[in-house]
Amino acid sequence: MNDATHLTFSCLCQRVQFAISTPRSSLPITAHVCHCSICRRTHGTLFTVDAHVPSPPVWITPSSPGECTRYTATPYLKRLFCSTCGTHVLDYAVEAGDEGWYVSSATLAAVNGVKGAGAGGVFDLKTQHCTKSVSGGGAVPWWKTVGGVSLQEWNPDEDDSTPSSDAPAPHALVDGETRSGSGSVRAHCHCGGVSFFVRSPVPGVDYSPSSVLTTHARVPADTTKWLAVNCFCDQCRLAAGVLAAQWAFVPISAITVLQQGSHMALPDDLRVGTSKIYRSSPPVTRTFCGTCGATVFYHHAGWPGMVDLAVGLLDAPRELGGARADRMLEWIVEDDVDELVVEGRKYHAEWVQSVQNGLREWGAVVAKASLGQSA
Ligand SMILES: [Zn+2]
Ligand SMILES: [Zn+2]
Ligand SMILES: [Zn+2]
Repeated sequence: MNDATHLTFSCLCQRVQFAISTPRSSLPITAHVCHCSICRRTHGTLFTVDAHVPSPPVWITPSSPGECTRYTATPYLKRLFCSTCGTHVLDYAVEAGDEGWYVSSATLAAVNGVKGAGAGGVFDLKTQHCTKSVSGGGAVPWWKTVGGVSLQEWNPDEDDSTPSSDAPAPHALVDGETRSGSGSVRAHCHCGGVSFFVRSPVPGVDYSPSSVLTTHARVPADTTKWLAVNCFCDQCRLAAGVLAAQWAFVPISAITVLQQGSHMALPDDLRVGTSKIYRSSPPVTRTFCGTCGATVFYHHAGWPGMVDLAVGLLDAPRELGGARADRMLEWIVEDDVDELVVEGRKYHAEWVQSVQNGLREWGAVVAKASLGQSA
């Protein structure tokens, strides 16, 4: 391919590195946003942005497929994530009509050897998938338009056997567990290997510091909620393998793990079930499920009592807002929190702006509705 464009991809720890070559005329490659429960629970995010690529990945030595863990998400879909850092990098689908390789668009590292060029001219978005099955709407209202154009919605047929509803994976509940127990909401990854419970704030208890945003120290305006953000920084984007990671800032004391029918404190090392640990920088510990790759926690040593929890794992009932859990979480919707967006804008300015616009518009609608309720 003389006119080939050489795309290279990498996980957060860079042990996984592969290339995909595509004719220049095929760019931009069409990607799609997906809101399905498989994507949310294998990534720990509220959506994914993957792209069907024209050729299989070519591994860049010393990297090899052996650096990845394979997870069979459905009989038709295998997901590959880095065994060391947890970044979801590739999917392989065998469903008729959709077979082939899909790449996590967030992991693009270089174009024709040029690093940091961003994904703007490489990936293009026109559709969002599985918008109807998300309890409470999830991130669907945040993805209204891209570049001023509405995304087309695609949903599986009603009788489609693909499990895309919000029902937990059948093996994800163990005896004695309920979706919401002891006033807490359950959180779990797709394989069910990581499972824990999160409590809403107890009125009158001071949880400060309740924000780990260094440039934007703040506490939730509504003291019955935890603060939540979309983080578009390079590290979070790569850790999850998605354009933005959705984090809830929660005190460790509000998280419990069910052991033999009793709620126990989250262990100091943040290990739960099948989780693995990756230290992405000296003060930062990230945990992910070693079986299905879901992002679970981010912890910074500078905020010892707090943890960032991957919102995509929450199993909040509809009364608490469903997937987005916005009756338990106060989402930051303004786009002036630089540390969350600056790096993301370099990666894909249009997509980041699209989500920021969607967030702001959604936030305005929510604020208006709550004013109406209190009037
Ligand atoms: Zn890695
Ligand atoms: Zn999906
Ligand atoms: Zn898992």
